Amino acid sequence: MNIMITNDDGITAPGIIALAEALRPLGRIAVVAPDREQSAVSHAITLHHPLRAERQGDDIFAVSGTPTDCVNLGINNLLDFRPDLVVSGINRGGNMGDDVTYSGTVSAAMEATLMGIPAIAVSLATSGEGKSYEAAALFIRRLAQRVAEEGLPSDTLLNVNVPDLPRERIKGPLITKQGKKRYQGAIVDKIDPRGRQYYWIGSIEPTYEDIEGSDFAAVIRGHISITPLHLDLTNYASLELLRGWKL
Ligand SMILES: [Mg+2]
Repeated sequence: MNIMITNDDGITAPGIIALAEALRPLGRIAVVAPDREQSAVSHAITLHHPLRAERQGDDIFAVSGTPTDCVNLGINNLLDFRPDLVVSGINRGGNMGDDVTYSGTVSAAMEATLMGIPAIAVSLATSGEGKSYEAAALFIRRLAQRVAEEGLPSDTLLNVNVPDLPRERIKGPLITKQGKKRYQGAIVDKIDPRGRQYYWIGSIEPTYEDIEGSDFAAVIRGHISITPLHLDLTNYASLELLRGWKL
């Protein structure tokens, strides 16, 4: 099995190191990841300046771009094989509910899905440095084998969130739906040392609504959450409603 790994926390982050270690027994593992943190860049692609890729070892590249750049460059140029699977993570912090729309981790898996390659995004739902990357990585090894055997539905990636608990306390996986984030207006509004106003978004830890069957509901109860995400964002139930507007 040929697997490409990427992330948005940067190539030296503990999550990607644990993931590469755990997946190594499955086959050939390549790491193509940002050379610095790129969290919350979503599906950004770099078009207005050149990218550099530094080879750090056999099949290991640090790229001066976004997670989406890494998937593009890795598959189209840097690697001399086409991956059977792309795994993005393990992110430091959960990517649940509406946060998937900001996530560089999830977007890297989206990019692979767009290119027709099965993909998994994986995040450790931690508010600190994270203790359970190894446990999460071992679960992804099992899941990767299963994805290799079964394949994935078209245009669909798996968004996995693992609670940051000791391995023996992590409960089995639940298949979940995307939940809802609770917005808190977390903007800091202050004056800088030169007397100018500044704003800083997102100082408060995100919280989620406890919706039955959702990603957050699973993780808060100690389960691993697996949400199948579809790249077609169309709200089919609204098509008829809007056609009824007769615009
Ligand atoms: Mg991140």
